[in-house]
Amino acid sequence: MKLNENYRNLKQNYLFAETAHRTAAYIEAHPDQSVIRLGIGDVTLPLAQSVVRAMQEAAAEMGDAATFRGYGPEQGYGFLREAIRDYYATRGIRIDADEVFITDGAKSDTGNITDLFAKDNVILVPDPVYPVYVDTNTMDGRQIIYADASKENGFLPMPDPQVKADIIYICSPNNPTGAAYTKEQLEAWVAYARENHALLLFDAAYECFVEEGKAARSIFEVEGARECAIEFCSLSKTAGFTGTRCGYTIVPKELCFAGADGEMLSVRQMWLRRQTTKFNGVSYIIQRGAAAVFTEEGMAECRRNIEYYKENAKVIAGTFDRLGVSYFGGIHSPYIWFECPFGMESWEFFDYMLEKIQVVGTPGAGFGANGTHYFRLTSFGSRENTVAAMARFEKMMAEKR
Ligand code: PLP
Repeated sequence: MKLNENYRNLKQNYLFAETAHRTAAYIEAHPDQSVIRLGIGDVTLPLAQSVVRAMQEAAAEMGDAATFRGYGPEQGYGFLREAIRDYYATRGIRIDADEVFITDGAKSDTGNITDLFAKDNVILVPDPVYPVYVDTNTMDGRQIIYADASKENGFLPMPDPQVKADIIYICSPNNPTGAAYTKEQLEAWVAYARENHALLLFDAAYECFVEEGKAARSIFEVEGARECAIEFCSLSKTAGFTGTRCGYTIVPKELCFAGADGEMLSVRQMWLRRQTTKFNGVSYIIQRGAAAVFTEEGMAECRRNIEYYKENAKVIAGTFDRLGVSYFGGIHSPYIWFECPFGMESWEFFDYMLEKIQVVGTPGAGFGANGTHYFRLTSFGSRENTVAAMARFEKMMAEKR
């Protein structure tokens, strides 16, 4: 018996496990302090009422012999796949319902998709970014190279024709920086992928935060993307499904790559085969709730929640504007990404904030080497906590000066 040695190449602790560990240790030592968490990207507002109603009705169906359902289609029920197809159509994007795969979230799929790829592909990952892309490819032992994101390029690296990659991850709007590509910028990535017979893996988990018309919400807005891209999306941030779990992946029929013998293989067919073998679908009740998100009423309710979070982002941005703290994001994204004050390294600043003002954020170093001197705050907290955290932040800055 031999274990997968690649696991030994992973960083010891998953980022949020480490921040949770440090926070818990602080609380244990200071039980009387009130800690405000603006760290992990988890939502706080409850599900929309229309979503809850749909799930209640579906639960009642499951309790009635006439409407009970057992195993569903592994790739999702038609009613939800069609609702997602129509959601894209309202944005002028044509996808077919059988190109939509319903899953338990974007985290699983961005990881699971690696099942389809040979081990000797070169993976290009932006730095900084959501750590799952690096960790899942490290588990498989693939070579990972990085596209540097920095304040100089607005945290939106563009393709370098000198760099040859086979699989490219794009996260837009980006976690953690909040930077979002325009359609024109994505055209350059699609052109690169087509020229190099590469694959784009586009994570659109935060598309619902994009300000209309100012950045792209889908890679499929770009002509030619159907031949070179897969899109991952999630209801976690769109509709508060972080605990409920539902996402979707779009694999276009045109997406084909040559096998070793030259035969053209359909990625969609391979993904279907993978999913029907290793996955048994998302619960019917959850899929009914997810379908309610795409109704007029559900959309309006979810929109109100997103606007609430966007207001929180403005509270944080307004404080930083006043204090002259240089920051990014917060417009097309629930995340504000800023340079650690006082020249601190990000874990040092994490400990400093926790100690001085009991506010928890996320150290930029956890998202890649380029995040070493940056820090992420989220707007997913309550208004009250966001305002209180910013008042504490302002005080902390004033005291240090
Ligand atoms: N993709 C990105 C960029 C994320 O930031 C997150 C969660 O924070 C996910 C995917 C995970 O989404 P899900 O809850 O659908 O698994």
